[in-house]
Amino acid sequence: IDLDRFKAVNDTRGHDVGDRLLVEVANRLRGCVRETDIIARMGGDEFAILQAPLDGPEAAMALAARIVERLGAPYHVGGQRLLVGASVGVALCPDHGCDPQTLLRRADLALYRAKLGGRGSLACYAPGLEEDTTERFVLEQDLRAAIASDQFTLAYQPVCDTQSLAVVGFEALLRWRHPVRGAVEPRLFIPLAEECGLIGVLGQWALETACAEAAAWARPCRIAVNVSPAQFRAPDLPARIAETLARTGLDPRWLQLEVTEGLLLEDTDAVLETMRALRAQGIGITLDDFGTAHASLSYLRRFPFDTLKIDQSFVRSLGEDAGAQSIVQAVLTLAHGLGLVVVAEGVETEEQLALLRAMRCQLVQGFLIGRPAPAARVREQLWSAADPLLPAGQAAAG
Ligand code: C2E
Ligand code: CA
Ligand code: CA
Repeated sequence: IDLDRFKAVNDTRGHDVGDRLLVEVANRLRGCVRETDIIARMGGDEFAILQAPLDGPEAAMALAARIVERLGAPYHVGGQRLLVGASVGVALCPDHGCDPQTLLRRADLALYRAKLGGRGSLACYAPGLEEDTTERFVLEQDLRAAIASDQFTLAYQPVCDTQSLAVVGFEALLRWRHPVRGAVEPRLFIPLAEECGLIGVLGQWALETACAEAAAWARPCRIAVNVSPAQFRAPDLPARIAETLARTGLDPRWLQLEVTEGLLLEDTDAVLETMRALRAQGIGITLDDFGTAHASLSYLRRFPFDTLKIDQSFVRSLGEDAGAQSIVQAVLTLAHGLGLVVVAEGVETEEQLALLRAMRCQLVQGFLIGRPAPAARVREQLWSAADPLLPAGQAAAG
């Protein structure tokens, strides 16, 4: 069991708070197990549980799920509300080994795998995980080489006005064409780039390329660029972006940065300062994937966002699940009350679009309206289209 975000708590709130948090974690772990199970702290923020006797593999996974859930609930330590999650890796005796070293090593590999799935995940060891980790190592080497050898491109997906479907901007999305594997998904290589410290270089490349591209468009449009938390936390970000804008000749008002909720959990004062500096330059900031992590509504007021993107998972359930519709409606009401523009992403059906129109969501993005396309195609489209620009094959509404 490994805690997520513990280091940040320790660094920003002090070791005393960190220590008390660990005690609280241990108490919660105690509440998850039976009398016969053994809990140990392996060091730092790592714990292990020896679950014996075991009523089959399902019981181990059920315990892992319980731990992820209980440890993920907010903590109140010294008058502060803290969020730290946990990831869990499971190995079984005798299936995966019969000596402690092998079992621990394999549980560790499973934990490593779980973490690849994001925070608060769990995984069980499976034969082949060793090779998988080697493969990951190879991919990391390839990623380093790829940056140097032009294997990245950006695809641009239109963002449209919900009522008229006129294009108001594009989101730049990274694409990696690996010489042997072919296209590698961002879902795979972005977390890898984050973990091995390459996201700074890669993110700067994406920013620079997207700005240069947008500066050359026949009709000025907004360009949204995704920025990872690690990249955002670099103290020189506002200065570097100002330089990039000056070099590429893009007016700051066309640039929109997209950040996720994860950024807002740590180091809030520094993040706030960076955001204010960017907004002062005229740059917009979007809260991406809204509703997927520990979104606290207070973030919307505390941080100077101007746009909010409702996550695809809610949009996908529109029309199928009344709950999703209520959530989207509530988010829209709240965002509009705060003066924020709302983008619904992942719009795939006419029905979803109709519901979003009825609910007065201003902007939409999704496969129904336009898929991410290469730069040349977008450039051509922008040269040839009369204003308002409509994506190919779509008719204006009403
Ligand atoms: P995201 O920022 O949420 O981007 C939207 C993702 O949804 C894109 O996936 C896009 O292709 C996909 N998408 C758009 N419309 C639809 C739809 O109607 N249906 C479905 N099923 N999917 C749709 P993609 O390109 O694979 O990117 C995945 C993620 O990778 C992005 O999620 C973003 O978090 C990250 N990413 C991409 N480019 C960059 C980058 O330059 N920097 C950073 N830091 N992250 C990036
Ligand atoms: Ca995005
Ligand atoms: Ca998103």
